Amino acid sequence: MISSGGTYRELAERWQSLHGARVRLQRIGCGPSGRTLLRADIGDARRPRVALAAGIHGDEPAGPWALLQLVERAELRPEFCYRLWPCTNPSGFIAQSRANAEGIDVNRTFAGDGSSPEASAIIAANRGMSFTLSIDLHEDCDATGFYCYEYGGAHLGRSVVEALAQQGFPIDPLEATFDVAGPLDDAHCTRERGRVAADAAHEGLVLGGLSYSLALARKGAAHVLTFETPSAAAWETRVAMHAAAVSCALDALLEESGSHRA
Ligand SMILES: [Zn+2]
Repeated sequence: MISSGGTYRELAERWQSLHGARVRLQRIGCGPSGRTLLRADIGDARRPRVALAAGIHGDEPAGPWALLQLVERAELRPEFCYRLWPCTNPSGFIAQSRANAEGIDVNRTFAGDGSSPEASAIIAANRGMSFTLSIDLHEDCDATGFYCYEYGGAHLGRSVVEALAQQGFPIDPLEATFDVAGPLDDAHCTRERGRVAADAAHEGLVLGGLSYSLALARKGAAHVLTFETPSAAAWETRVAMHAAAVSCALDALLEESGSHRA
């Protein structure tokens, strides 16, 4: 059973009420589907830009509520600016289904100009933007704890896993029997407790379509993380886990950019 923080209407109203000088909120049309996506831009555009997204699978609701919580509580670090997609599959969120209203897994439609209304809208709106980091928030019904996918060769994911473990959150051991997306074989990904580092080019081939994160890993983002929380855990734990993971990744990114300058 899916534990949810509320309806899509409630989520959208909470975002709408944040619109102002700090949070610049827009509704972006998804072509002839008639649907819209919420998009929020936060912070000084001269700062390095971070992309944050959630809710591309409608039956993974903790991510959208965690992003809202981070912004409502003004917990995103001011050293970066942000392009946020608060819920990238609203029709799936409303139906509590992985796919969108047409039955399409939106997270396989990010090749080229996009082959779903949602992906096309996001790709068009993000065109020409580059990101120092991109994070997409998911959930996994088979996971026993937090884990992440990382592209870009850095070790932000490892920092996040260490920090979450220190805060007492469960981390998935990612044993060899655990199915990671793909399927990815050992030649094209390495796995350790809480973290999968994957070959973005190979994963695109075996997935049969580009995910949001893979498309950004190939073009547009220097570091890319996909976070997964265990759907079987308590609702508050999953939201807190996502929020803490985003904050830890931003801390690690700041530390990394600081050490590069030194
Ligand atoms: Zn997912």
